[in-house]
Amino acid sequence: MEPTLPRPRGGFATRAVQGAAIVPDVAQTPVGPAIWPSATWSTPRSSEVGALLEDAAPGYVYGRYDNPTATTLHNVVASLHEAPAAWSLASGTAAIHGLLSVLRGKGRVLATSRLYGGTWALLRRLRDEAGWQVDHADLLTPDSLAAALTDEHTVVHVETIANPSTAVADLAGMAQVCRARGVALVVDNTFASPYLCRPYALGATAVVESATKYLAGHGDVVAGVVAGDDEVVTAVREHAFELGGSLGPFEAWLVVRGLQTLPLRMRASGANALALARALAASGRVARVRYPGLEDHPQHRLAREQFGGRGFGGVLSFDLPDRAAAEAFADSCTVFARAASLGGTHSLVLHPASTSHRQLDDGALAAAGLGPGTIRLAVGIEDEHDLLDDVRQALAAADHPR
Ligand SMILES: *Cc1c(COP(=O)(O)O)cnc(C)c1O
Repeated sequence: MEPTLPRPRGGFATRAVQGAAIVPDVAQTPVGPAIWPSATWSTPRSSEVGALLEDAAPGYVYGRYDNPTATTLHNVVASLHEAPAAWSLASGTAAIHGLLSVLRGKGRVLATSRLYGGTWALLRRLRDEAGWQVDHADLLTPDSLAAALTDEHTVVHVETIANPSTAVADLAGMAQVCRARGVALVVDNTFASPYLCRPYALGATAVVESATKYLAGHGDVVAGVVAGDDEVVTAVREHAFELGGSLGPFEAWLVVRGLQTLPLRMRASGANALALARALAASGRVARVRYPGLEDHPQHRLAREQFGGRGFGGVLSFDLPDRAAAEAFADSCTVFARAASLGGTHSLVLHPASTSHRQLDDGALAAAGLGPGTIRLAVGIEDEHDLLDDVRQALAAADHPR
């Protein structure tokens, strides 16, 4: 039986407004994730608002600080990353900004040169507008990191799996170097998700992910998360609400909903990606098939150990002879959609030279490990045979570009 609520009182307009704040006191636990889209929260006594604003009591005060749906998200993300705490922000980029801001102090940032394009743009803007000092080096191994680190660096930023080369970083090894040098290590784990890799458990200071990708997993929300110690996460939280970047309840709800199927989606998309990578490598029609699950991938063994044998992710890349062939391939796909992003249920095809990396000439493309004919596939969870058929017919179309 539906609980009876106290009826709103007053005039027609007052009842219309104040009736919305009369909610059932539900003692049961909902099975589906709950959502409270309230921008502000009331308290029995005025003094309690002050305590909430000062973080002296648990509870909610204002939606820019946090919301109960986000609290559920933080709890799940911390658990999956085997970290004490987690926080959510309005995008992966906001999460990277928040985390690097609090860990940098006033020191220099050392970031991998195999960086997600949006993170390049973020760091360039912080350098130009906020005076950040940022260096880049090819950071995959403890040795490459040790060679690039100087005493001025306070934080190192690397990615678990690089885009679109799929190079895999030795996180435990780099965490040891950072610890010995007293430098924070931030790992962007977006391409792996906590299903494959838990950088905090491997010794990183903190993990950051674009929840837009595998965590939410359905291509219907933009969000970011960080996970780490209480101290780091509290600092990110304060940074987020003072700069205005906290995640809203509707977005948090979509991520919580998507996270429930993370292991199923990671398994399905990893199995599809491995089948496609093997078929492409065996076809003899493309060059440099890059996927960590292939035995000839440079970090195949590291990836198998670091990802616990749970798979190698859903992203792979390969090279067609030239730009025209790559464009013909992408244009003729019917199951793969031509779109940026990754990590959703839907398979996507991207031609970096004409999209994400369009500002680069062929020389700069080569420096980024790309060619004019490179294709990136972000593999979803559709039927394997449909994806294989689509790639086969697109390869045939690439043989005769218009
Ligand atoms: C998408 C992505 C980001 C940025 O995340 P947004 O949610 O788009 O801000 C950062 N790093 C990697 C590796 C990504 O794929």
